Amino acid sequence: MATRAERPYHKYPVCHTSGKKRYRTHRDAKNVVVEARFHMRRAARWELPSHRHECRAYACSACGGWHTTSRPPPPPRFFP
Ligand SMILES: [Zn+2]
Repeated sequence: MATRAERPYHKYPVCHTSGKKRYRTHRDAKNVVVEARFHMRRAARWELPSHRHECRAYACSACGGWHTTSRPPPPPRFFP
């Protein structure tokens, strides 16, 4: 298996601010979230642990690309 050093260039570059995998478009990032959801659902069905926890795609202001995160979105704020 090739290490990160041997293959510095992946299909998508990595964000040097967050260190996350960078996606060029919202659709690319969203596809990863959809795929992760599929993996999680399948893992749950067979009662297996899943290492895929991406649940949200967000735009990164540092690199101008898109990233995925496993953290749920912040709770909505209600104003009186
Ligand atoms: Zn970024």
